[in-house]
Amino acid sequence: MRRFTVRLRPIGLLTVGGSHPELAGADIAFVTTSVDGREVVYVPASSFKGALRSSASRVAERYGFRSCGQTSPELMQRAHAGSGTCDVCRLFGVPSRNPSQHLFFDDLLPDGSLTSRQLITRVRINDRSMRAEDGGLYTSEAVYSGEFTGQVRYSEEVVELLPLLLLGLAELRMDRFGRRSSVDLRLEGTDQLRQDLGREWHPLLDALEGWLWQP
Ligand SMILES: [Zn+2]
Repeated sequence: MRRFTVRLRPIGLLTVGGSHPELAGADIAFVTTSVDGREVVYVPASSFKGALRSSASRVAERYGFRSCGQTSPELMQRAHAGSGTCDVCRLFGVPSRNPSQHLFFDDLLPDGSLTSRQLITRVRINDRSMRAEDGGLYTSEAVYSGEFTGQVRYSEEVVELLPLLLLGLAELRMDRFGRRSSVDLRLEGTDQLRQDLGREWHPLLDALEGWLWQP
C-alpha cells in the first residue's frame, strides 16, 4: 500500500456528532475515542471518507470522471448495471456490500496540539417558515482549534483515479463537513503520490500541500 498523510483543522466551529450526548451534557456531542488511556475528540475514518466521497461525486463529471450520484447501495448497483461501475464507486467502493480494497482511511486523531472544545447553543430553524421552531434550542459541542492527522493508503490498482481523490479533497475544503461545519486540510508525505500522478495534476497537489484558508 502507498500512503500520504492528511492534516485537517476546523474553520470556525467544527462538530462531528457522536452517540453519547448525555455524557458531555450536549444534545450533539463531538465523537471521542481513547488514545493511551486518554479521551480525545477525533474525526472517524468513516466520517472523513463519507464527506470526501460526496465531494468527489459532486465534482467528478466536471473533470471527466463518472459518478452514479447515488448514496444507497441498492441504487448504486442499479445505476452500474447498464454502464458498469462508476469511477467514484471504483475508488471508494460500494458502502456495506463491496467496500474498497484499494483505498483505506485512518481515523484522524489530534496531533498533540491543543483541541479546544466548547458547548454552543443553536436554534433549530424550520426550513419552510424560516422561523425558529418551538423548543428548537439545542446545544452542540464544537471544536475550534487544534489539528487532526491520519493516513490515507491506496493500492496501485487505483492510481489512475488519484486525480479524482485530489479533486474531492480540494472540494471538501470549499464544502460543509460534519454538522454545519467547515474544515481546511492539507496533504503531507506526498512523494509517492506525486510520482503516481500525471504532471498535469502537480499544480493541484501543490495547492493541496498548503492550507487554503490561512497562511
Ligand atoms: Zn457508482
